[in-house]
Amino acid sequence: MVEEDQDEWMSYATAGYGGAVDPWDDLVPVDSEEEQEDPIDDDDLFEDDMPSLRDLDAPPCPAPMGIRHVIRLGCCNFCLSRIGGRLNSDSSPPEIHGSRIREEAISRDPSIAEIDENYCPFCEDLFQDIDNIVIRILREIGDVEFSTLQMGYHISKELIEEEDSLRKRFGARGAHPLKASFAGAVETALKEKLDEVEMVKEIPDVMILVDSLTLRVKAEIRPVFYYGRYRKLAKDVPQTRWPCRACKGRDGGCDSCEGTGLQYPDSVQDLIGEPIREALSAEDTSFHGMGREDIDVRCLGRGRPFVVEVKKPRIRTIDFEQILKLISSRADGKIELDALRPSNRSEIARIKETKAEKSYRIRFHVDGEIPDDSESRIHELAGVILEQRTPKRVAHRRSDLVRKRQVISVENVLIEDNEIQFDVRCQSGTYVKEMVHSDDGRTTPSVAEILESECTVLWLDVIDIHAE
Ligand SMILES: [Zn+2]
Ligand SMILES: [Zn+2]
Repeated sequence: MVEEDQDEWMSYATAGYGGAVDPWDDLVPVDSEEEQEDPIDDDDLFEDDMPSLRDLDAPPCPAPMGIRHVIRLGCCNFCLSRIGGRLNSDSSPPEIHGSRIREEAISRDPSIAEIDENYCPFCEDLFQDIDNIVIRILREIGDVEFSTLQMGYHISKELIEEEDSLRKRFGARGAHPLKASFAGAVETALKEKLDEVEMVKEIPDVMILVDSLTLRVKAEIRPVFYYGRYRKLAKDVPQTRWPCRACKGRDGGCDSCEGTGLQYPDSVQDLIGEPIREALSAEDTSFHGMGREDIDVRCLGRGRPFVVEVKKPRIRTIDFEQILKLISSRADGKIELDALRPSNRSEIARIKETKAEKSYRIRFHVDGEIPDDSESRIHELAGVILEQRTPKRVAHRRSDLVRKRQVISVENVLIEDNEIQFDVRCQSGTYVKEMVHSDDGRTTPSVAEILESECTVLWLDVIDIHAE
């Protein structure tokens, strides 16, 4: 190893240091035209009459003169380790490694023992703060459960640039840049406290941001996602939380919502999400359904696929069986859920984009006589392309246009007195009630049109959503 160092020193010694470079060269007054036109790289150079140490030339590390020079600049042991140029031959912690390089340099030139490392220009003493930063990270995380961690660091652009130019001048070739070394040092120290935790580069359970300037540490707990299919058996339950119309759901609510902030006390979102949120000590939920049914429409069959997003959970492990029981007992028959499984954000996109066909059962009242051939007339709707102008009831929030939707099949037509009921499977996005009552001719054809009678919808159920 000694021999190797010797070789390195020799190669640097012959690489231009020594006789060839005059460290005072920079101070020669400029007078030739050519030099005057050259931009001055470093304004600081001419601030004082005397050059500061960092303006002096020196060979890059690991040349002994280079190491001596960076020590004189105030280089700390951490930085000595990373820029000193002997990284590969040493596996001890950086500060130990650096102090060994320093001792070696002192043994060659005892005068540099006097130089204290109270301000390192290569890191602005950032490495002195590692323990402090780890303490802050652990405090910030508290008792949050997580198994993967991603770290992010903010280091001022000025320091990055300054360090980069110093390192390129005086550091060994291939020396580790400040940010990577700092990240490595924080993560090594953190690993000692959190040995079960895996450091990852994407999709972590927890993301920690460290601001090197203020030493502020911020933890971001990433959400967890669960997939399931819900059946909605009650007719006054919206899919997502519905804020009170009077107070717009402000904190504390108002008289008309009895302080709840909600227009409807229950929603599928909260009937499913609240037990989960409580179990995971989370902050809130978002609910992403594969489409939605009207508030007065039941959703039966295999149910509607959804992903519930649980925000800022302090707990990430869940007992599905137990949570399903809790959801079921609290929902009191309003909704049902067969299973839950872990999901992710990309499944939300899949759910939102899937255009699943749906089957409905609809029952309606017919004004006047029901024609004898009603059943066969209704069956003729199978395969038809409906033209549906935006229904009046949603015109305030949907643009007014004509949508074409196909009726796939019609089954189980049932005629009882003045009421008719049938099952219909349609393309995604069909307005089914309008297909029956015609919405004053905005949907065509319609049951009302083919029966030549006014039809009033009594109820509508979703009986299946054809999504896998
Ligand atoms: Zn340093
Ligand atoms: Zn209110």
